Amino acid sequence: MITTPSLSDLLGVRHARVRDGLTADHLDALVVTHLPNVRYLSGFAGSAAIVVLDRHELVLITDGRYLTEVQETIAGICPAFRLVKVDPAYDATLIRVLKQGGYERVGFEGAHLPFNRYQTLSVALAEGPDGAHSRLVPTERLVEAVRLRKDEIERAALRQAGRLLDDAAVAILAALKPGQRERDIAADIDWRLKMGGFERTAFDTIVASGPNSALPHARPGKRVLRTGDLVVLDFGGVYDGYCVDLTRTACVGEPSSEVRRLYQAVRDAHAAALAAVRPGATASTVDAAARQTLVAYGLGEAFSHATGHGLGLEVHEEPRVGPARADVPGVPPAARDEPLIDGIVITVEPGAYVPGLGGVRIEDDVLVTGDGAELLTHVPLELLVVEHNER
Ligand code: ZN
Ligand code: ZN
Repeated sequence: MITTPSLSDLLGVRHARVRDGLTADHLDALVVTHLPNVRYLSGFAGSAAIVVLDRHELVLITDGRYLTEVQETIAGICPAFRLVKVDPAYDATLIRVLKQGGYERVGFEGAHLPFNRYQTLSVALAEGPDGAHSRLVPTERLVEAVRLRKDEIERAALRQAGRLLDDAAVAILAALKPGQRERDIAADIDWRLKMGGFERTAFDTIVASGPNSALPHARPGKRVLRTGDLVVLDFGGVYDGYCVDLTRTACVGEPSSEVRRLYQAVRDAHAAALAAVRPGATASTVDAAARQTLVAYGLGEAFSHATGHGLGLEVHEEPRVGPARADVPGVPPAARDEPLIDGIVITVEPGAYVPGLGGVRIEDDVLVTGDGAELLTHVPLELLVVEHNER
């Protein structure tokens, strides 16, 4: 019989994996200040908290707003859990917890602790009672490396989020009409995402029409959809904390042969990238599959971004699905080209942006499985032609 692990079991597994990282770095405890990491380790979904994970327990420091909720939910689920109320301020409480722990080496998240807070904490920890002191040690991706591989509860949330996004996308695309302003379409998309079961949008919705479609990250404005426009619609939602992200491109009126060719190129690149997603491949091989397809169409220069990104508690998380980066200052070695393993979730979103003609992007979300890949989003891939219906 197969039994599904509980959230409590899975939190225990997450803690054990991060503790392996502590051992490797010779750390006695890790201070977690990045909220998605706090949520991953504790289940805490509020807007302010710090986690201290040591060898034996998980301490959650939070303020009065969240105490009741934490006591009623997380306290009964999170293994070896201790709740500490902020008194009188977050960092003062953190210093007290760390001093009580008597740790020698305390890791912190180098990417997520502002320098002024680091200074305050390290000075305070250096002056312990009876000469005892702890040292703050910067760490890199200790929690992120564990978050790469989604566990069963995360996979279930992402699958359900994908289904909700499919339904919302079909309705969103069916509602497109010429004469609408980009920002009104974006507002309609956001409303449909919320009514469709998402707690919030995963990022600011993109609706880019006509010349704006040639700008990969255009903001929706007052421009009105006209015949001949390409329209890039990129939107996503958060379900149970997990983000999904989808792009489709429509054409207002009959597409020209140039537009059809541009669309086909991106569609072929999207198919090539998806076909490259499997365990054992690297993120850069997925990017290369999309890029080579567009280069063969003479559109290499028109593809100005990476092929995709990881999805999870954050809408842009590891791994980056882009060209392998050799030796770039500021890029930790492990984040340069991630091998794809069972449980990684990424987007595949090649695009081509041609000033004067317009842009096309097609994006889907995919889970790497033990023997291949599982699409999380399923929305028709044909170029959507929006007809001008005279009334
Ligand atoms: Zn997107
Ligand atoms: Zn994306």
